[in-house]
Amino acid sequence: MISLKPDFCDIEIPEKEHYSIEDYSSSKARWCSGCGAHTILHSVQKLCTDEQLPPEKTVFVSGIGCSSRFPHYMKTYGFHGLHGRAFPVASGVKFRRPDLHVFVITGDGDCCSIGAGHWVHAIRYNMKMVVLLFDNSIYGLTKKQTSPTSPLGTHTNTHPTGSVLPPINPIQSTLGLANVSFVAQTVDWKPAHLNATLKKAYDHPGLAFVRIVQRCPIWMRENYEPTVKDPDAITVLNHENGIVLEEQALKKFRHIQEHDPSNLVKAREIAELVKSTTPIGLFYQNKEGTRYDEYGAHNLGVPVEDRIDAINSLMDKYAI
Ligand code: SF4
Repeated sequence: MISLKPDFCDIEIPEKEHYSIEDYSSSKARWCSGCGAHTILHSVQKLCTDEQLPPEKTVFVSGIGCSSRFPHYMKTYGFHGLHGRAFPVASGVKFRRPDLHVFVITGDGDCCSIGAGHWVHAIRYNMKMVVLLFDNSIYGLTKKQTSPTSPLGTHTNTHPTGSVLPPINPIQSTLGLANVSFVAQTVDWKPAHLNATLKKAYDHPGLAFVRIVQRCPIWMRENYEPTVKDPDAITVLNHENGIVLEEQALKKFRHIQEHDPSNLVKAREIAELVKSTTPIGLFYQNKEGTRYDEYGAHNLGVPVEDRIDAINSLMDKYAI
């Protein structure tokens, strides 16, 4: 007979009184010098510290790619999984353990190519988690192949004379999905905006999708340098219900556009602008969307003992 322990999810771990940023730092990050992922890592560790997230109740799930090494650098639980499969793993974790803080770390290839089917349905399931799309518009780990978000004409190993297909716009695509509830965009080189965006995403009750335009100075320097250097290249979306920056931080941007994040039609219009400028801020938020984690194992009204009995009786059919 095969049996599950009756206490299989009741492990009590005493929580510390205060966590410092070192409590979330694991091994030294091995991204290239100048890679935008370093800033994002620091910003996430700051969020964990500010929110005092118990490391044993925090999970980072990733797929494959440069960005997906992220869980190795967090001293929390982590799952560095298969290419494109971060969403289903994270969804399973959240569905079974809604008490955990779940983060998905994915790249433009991982999310928008091989993982695109999972991306669509994770948005629709709208379980409470923070999704960080590190978008550097290139396959960096495998040394410069065209990614689904590479700008048209990008010269890569797979397209030496220039890529031929129009790129996916992850903001626009996400805004078009059923039950979308939070879509924001930021850039790795504006830490005040990055920090404020992560905080807003963490506070959201459903799935918060954040595209972070990320520098890859090794393979895509020419794509980001103009945006990094040109203060006219970024437009900040501003609203009392959006990503709120301190006055001093807001003054550093030349272009500010008022945008109410409850307006989905307008959000989709602004997403179109990505071709001419980089809009950053909260495009859309709906706190009332249906959340699949509210229908999770904890909430089916079936006592733990009955669930264990049911699983045991099923597994006994196959006992040898
Ligand atoms: S190849 Fe690019 S994305 Fe990958 S670690 Fe280096 S700089 Fe970062």
